[in-house]
Amino acid sequence: MPGQPDSPLCVAVLVKQVPDSAEIKMDPRTGTLIREGVPAVMNPDDRLGLETALALKDSLGALVTALSMGPIQAVDVLSEALAMGADRGVLLSDRNFAGADTWATSFTLGRALERLMSQGPLDLVICGRQASDGDTAQIGPQVAEHLGWPQVTYVERLEVEGRELRAWRRLPGLVQKVLCPLPAVVTVLATPQAPRWPLVDRLLWACREAAPLEVWDAADIEAPAARTGLKGSLTRVVKTFSPKGQRVTQWLEGTAAEQSQALLAELRGHKLI
Ligand SMILES: Cc1cc2nc3c(=O)[nH]c(=O)nc-3n(C[C@H](O)[C@H](O)[C@H](O)COP(=O)(O)OP(=O)(O)OC[C@H]3O[C@@H](n4cnc5c(N)ncnc54)[C@H](O)[C@@H]3O)c2cc1C
Repeated sequence: MPGQPDSPLCVAVLVKQVPDSAEIKMDPRTGTLIREGVPAVMNPDDRLGLETALALKDSLGALVTALSMGPIQAVDVLSEALAMGADRGVLLSDRNFAGADTWATSFTLGRALERLMSQGPLDLVICGRQASDGDTAQIGPQVAEHLGWPQVTYVERLEVEGRELRAWRRLPGLVQKVLCPLPAVVTVLATPQAPRWPLVDRLLWACREAAPLEVWDAADIEAPAARTGLKGSLTRVVKTFSPKGQRVTQWLEGTAAEQSQALLAELRGHKLI
């Protein structure tokens, strides 16, 4: 349900909790990520998405809801989002959501966005460009498809005027300015200013019981078990491994001139020169 022209802009920001490590641990048996015991943080691109939404709050009085799907400890990223300035946090947590591929994840997030729309207007969904662990950059476009809304990806700057969005998309070697009607989904890869820090007093408020944080399960969003988590996933990770670098040493014989010629021939043969 899009907002009326005179009502505040309503923005949902998708925020994922990711492992705080370059070395993602995998379960070799199932090929899935092991999240237990790994320190977790807010996905860096989602910090940019949140900053984009909070800049709209500063300039237009937008109402900002942060939405995350994950285990119960993912509530921490929502507390952080509240401390940065979000008005409301919603965590989607249910055993049935575990093991989701991007298809099941975007279905679940899409259902939650529909529930938000049943409670009030929603004009804009902001996602990060990609998550630092899954790294697919599929969720934003899939959520847009689920909602049937237009999408603008790779956004580095955003303005809203009335019912229209102006977005600057950063592409290799160029920036594209795009106009798009609301409601819409955008994925963000940069912001004009660095993401703000959480405020200590807001952090204390966000960790209190009365904080506007909710946990929704599968029943709350009327998500059938067959469409969520591992059961609802259309893809399976069949194998996970670290690629091994291979070094081959080749000795060149002959005089210096012959070795130089042989070296040049090798480099040309591998199309390196
Ligand atoms: C084939 C395949 C199988 C997989 N199987 C499993 C599995 O068995 N178990 C498992 O734990 N993971 C699994 N994953 C990873 C899982 O699909 C992703 O964690 C999840 O679907 C999000 O995809 P992504 O991390 O690539 O997000 P991206 O598409 O890169 O994220 C883009 C943006 O979408 C939003 N977003 C993404 N995920 C969330 C979220 N959970 N909550 C809120 N916002 C979000 C954020 O704004 C983020 O910046 C699998 C992935 C693939 C490709």
